[in-house]
Amino acid sequence: MDKKYDVIIVGTGAAGLYAALNFPEDINVLIVSKRDLPLSNSSLAQGGVACVLDTVHDSYKLHITDTLIAGKYKNNLSAVEKLVSEGPSDVLRIKELGVDFDLNPDGTMCKTLEAGHSRHRIVHHKDSTGKAIVDKHIEAVSALPNVTICDNALVYSIHKVLNGFYIDILKDGKSYCYGCSYCLLATGGIGRIYKYTTNSAISTGDGIAFAYMLGAKISHISRVQFHPTAFAAEKDRERFLISEAVRGEGAVLLNCNGKRFAFDYDSRGELAPRDVVSDAIIRESIKTKSEKFYLDITDKSADFIKERFPMIYERCLKEGVDITKDRIPVFPCQHYLMGGINVDLDARTSIDGLYAAGECAHTGVHGANRLASNSLLEALVFSRSAATDITNRIRNHGRKPLGTEPAHKPIEGKPMPHGFRSKIREIMQDTYFVIPKPEKYQESYNKVEKILNELLNNDYEINSDLVEAKSIAITASIILDEVREGINL
Ligand SMILES: Cc1cc2nc3c(=O)[nH]c(=O)nc-3n(C[C@H](O)[C@H](O)[C@H](O)COP(=O)(O)OP(=O)(O)OC[C@H]3O[C@@H](n4cnc5c(N)ncnc54)[C@H](O)[C@@H]3O)c2cc1C
Repeated sequence: MDKKYDVIIVGTGAAGLYAALNFPEDINVLIVSKRDLPLSNSSLAQGGVACVLDTVHDSYKLHITDTLIAGKYKNNLSAVEKLVSEGPSDVLRIKELGVDFDLNPDGTMCKTLEAGHSRHRIVHHKDSTGKAIVDKHIEAVSALPNVTICDNALVYSIHKVLNGFYIDILKDGKSYCYGCSYCLLATGGIGRIYKYTTNSAISTGDGIAFAYMLGAKISHISRVQFHPTAFAAEKDRERFLISEAVRGEGAVLLNCNGKRFAFDYDSRGELAPRDVVSDAIIRESIKTKSEKFYLDITDKSADFIKERFPMIYERCLKEGVDITKDRIPVFPCQHYLMGGINVDLDARTSIDGLYAAGECAHTGVHGANRLASNSLLEALVFSRSAATDITNRIRNHGRKPLGTEPAHKPIEGKPMPHGFRSKIREIMQDTYFVIPKPEKYQESYNKVEKILNELLNNDYEINSDLVEAKSIAITASIILDEVREGINL
């Protein structure tokens, strides 16, 4: 073992970084990210964080109700209550940290509306809230004496022993093994199992795959959210999101004939929850036999658009679309995972000492469908809970010897053949997109299992390609297994 920590946090998105901030100075923590620190889904978040800060015009009850409606009442009510009632103090805490939320002239935080919310309650930093949060958190965590940050360090396997874990990490082509009493997985989403996603390149489901291999309970992983309005670039895998807030501010959705159609499918029109709008687009696409759809916000003044959506304006301009004058080409793509590693209200998984928070975890907050801007809030609330729970356990039970270190496999091996990841992405895009194709579940599951066996039963060189290919295959296979068995839906 190269070194032992009290806690190892895998991931430097909102969940991992905020957890790190919540440990007292006598608890030593290692936090790792497999790429540069800011590369994460958290950094991409545009719209903001949903929370009730004004109890005159809004209430916890309304936020809970909106969350339950979006989640089709399949949410875990206790988790939703915790999210909504504890979230505001976490948001105020990160404001104290220096996160530059947009303010009204009277100094209160600006609150915008997003689809599915019955009140203006989304606090934001322009249209790049996630980056504002991550940047400030990296600054704050870097100043902590008890936290060691390690970037470009890929966790490639986790071994459970008597009183903790041994964690294998690949950095600069070398393998290291670190021990820890507690491990928090904050590894984010699974977007990269799809051909088209809004997710960042790190989203390959690694934490879910590790937890699954350790025997942890995985729940509702087939609850995948598709965002209705990603920029319809011709070839990019990572599609740039045109935030819900653009529709919140009045943008309308048009089909290939320039006709507004969202109200034909739901009385809430463009402001219906994302699954409803995504579904409407796909059905309209079948009806019109075209995948051309547009968002139009040209009704608003150019000054308003540039001030409110500076990042979206610039990004679209780069693609040749001036959103103050032109319609924005959009189409649904994979966006978020509601299910994941099953955790309780303290973010404990079913494996002793193993915690999970953020997008890789299933708290039950989102039910069948996430309400916009609830996920950053969930990452904050439940990662803070994990840190508190771990701290209490260390205080109450002290530090024990971990247990025998397992033998390590050499990282050298034959090169993995190309094409496994692309194949799985095609299968998932074809089988389990906005309108799933149940007739393909079994065949697709068999194909993914075949790839997975190939990956698990060959001595390929351990590198990021192999680790991510395995994670993608494991995640896709659990999703297809759930849907083919008709469980957990
Ligand atoms: C385009 C976009 C816009 C969004 N907008 C909003 C919004 O407005 N409001 C909202 O609430 N939510 C939004 N979301 C969702 C939200 O951003 C994410 O759900 C949330 O930020 C996830 O945070 P996280 O900390 O769980 O994961 P991430 O932020 O994705 O971080 C994951 C971390 O895990 C690390 N990691 C993964 N695997 C390994 C490994 N094997 N070894 C080492 N490190 C590893 C990565 O390097 C990374 O640091 C948006 C998402 C996207 C993609």
